[in-house]
Amino acid sequence: MGVLADIPFEFDADALGEYLRIKPETDDAREFADFLDKARAAGRPKALYKECYVEGRGDDTVTIDGITFTSRALLANLERVERVFPYVATCGDEIGRLDIQADDIIKRFWLDTIQETLLSFSTSHLNTYLTRKYRLGKTASMSPGSGDVTVWPIEQQRELFSLLGDVKGLIGVELTDSCLMVPIKSVSGIRFPTEIDFESCQLCHREACPSRSAPFDQQLWDSIQEDLKPDA
Ligand code: SF4
Repeated sequence: MGVLADIPFEFDADALGEYLRIKPETDDAREFADFLDKARAAGRPKALYKECYVEGRGDDTVTIDGITFTSRALLANLERVERVFPYVATCGDEIGRLDIQADDIIKRFWLDTIQETLLSFSTSHLNTYLTRKYRLGKTASMSPGSGDVTVWPIEQQRELFSLLGDVKGLIGVELTDSCLMVPIKSVSGIRFPTEIDFESCQLCHREACPSRSAPFDQQLWDSIQEDLKPDA
């Protein structure tokens, strides 16, 4: 188990201002600079991971350190993998405590963007850390709830969190009854070594998704369905 709680970060104020369409040298720009100072002081991006081993495989299940996950896509990805790294990365709950009025929509939008940025710091720091510490080559990741709903149901967040232990106590992330994470700018999943490129988006039919990172892959989709068919 590893906790990364002191993740260094520095905001690119110009890039953020441009993204948020804040005109330089205006009152908005001065207010944003002040807001960014507070975010810099409050922000605590964090990540938690565990080095685990695949202990067994069923028809559509994979057992990792005593916890069984049901997902044919996960099973296919871990077919020849022994060591995996379940993780949670987060923007941290501290930044959400900045004092912003409920009806201040602009500042709430700024906060949302800054939380997203902090999350990107924590995920990239975690990936770099794992690669260096465990001398990993190419890796990919799967997350409960990503891809089509049947690919790896979001309810399996419960198993993932139980594999990682006291996630709330260690990095302040908790699951709601509907298995969403709080803070919402958090990501979870299992990172694994692979020789091929894999993105959950390849197994997602959702059209017009602004976050899509890879096109839907019919061949990959078919191969996973094929894996499910009982032997003749
Ligand atoms: S296409 Fe969008 S919804 Fe589907 S897995 Fe990718 S990011 Fe998620």
